[in-house]
Amino acid sequence: MQATEAIRISFTNQKGGVGKTTTTVNLGTALALVGKKVLIVDADPQGNASTGFGIGRARRAVSIHDVLSQTSGVEEAILPTGIENLDIITATVDLSSIDVDLIHEKDRFSRLRTALSSSSMPKYDYILIDCPPSLNLLTIAALTASDFVLVPLQCEFFALEGLSQLLESIKQIRAASNRDLKLLGVVLTMFDTRNRLSDQVAMDVRENLGSLVLDTIIPRNVRLSEAPSHGVPGVLYDPRSVGSIAYRKLAAEVLRKTSAVRAEGVS
Ligand code: ADP
Ligand code: MG
Repeated sequence: MQATEAIRISFTNQKGGVGKTTTTVNLGTALALVGKKVLIVDADPQGNASTGFGIGRARRAVSIHDVLSQTSGVEEAILPTGIENLDIITATVDLSSIDVDLIHEKDRFSRLRTALSSSSMPKYDYILIDCPPSLNLLTIAALTASDFVLVPLQCEFFALEGLSQLLESIKQIRAASNRDLKLLGVVLTMFDTRNRLSDQVAMDVRENLGSLVLDTIIPRNVRLSEAPSHGVPGVLYDPRSVGSIAYRKLAAEVLRKTSAVRAEGVS
């Protein structure tokens, strides 16, 4: 990891609906708001991150599928979101067949990494990759291309279930293709202050994972869930909402943590 290169973070959890996309979109926006140049890579065939910025199918003529299948260069796939400092590479449903499309390609796991490192890439401070809810090619490619992985964990009864498998997969990626991959942490999402189960889950998770759990907790907040249908990230849709405030706090924590690790790596 060189000081001039973008810090790349994958948002991963093989469970669906835990807040991966909401965290990618809002953390990315919060980082852009403090002046960081950010690229979001939508690596989920559902394309929810793309939709979350109000980018309809018609504007996704060149998407991450084209980058991975090398039918276009990475720079052609980058779209402005309309938010200052914030760009996106979109995803479309055709991405769901990428495992098969690239089955004969030996470099399929490293293609994203190669693309994001190409000399035609504009300069970014952060590249955030929104992963699908599975440990398939797209997630492996994302983890291979990343410096850090951030795991959103929903405050629900079975929160920890499946986490050991995910941590094991991260270990395997480290051994096989990316020894620099670090776990940035686990972020608790959809914390419900009116529900004692949330408190219990948060305590259990901290007991099990200790300092791997980030200090910032994302509350359940209806403004965050309303925002995507307006094509605006929650952070901007209602800047004063508790959800928006939490994501801006998370951005400050991520900035602190990632720059501390980078400074260590450089010295
Ligand atoms: P994933 O990407 O892991 O599948 P999403 O980010 O799409 O998860 O979140 C799943 C659903 O929960 C979405 O409808 C989203 O709007 C909603 N959601 C996510 N985080 C919150 C939150 N903190 N408060 C309320 N709703 C949320
Ligand atoms: Mg998602």
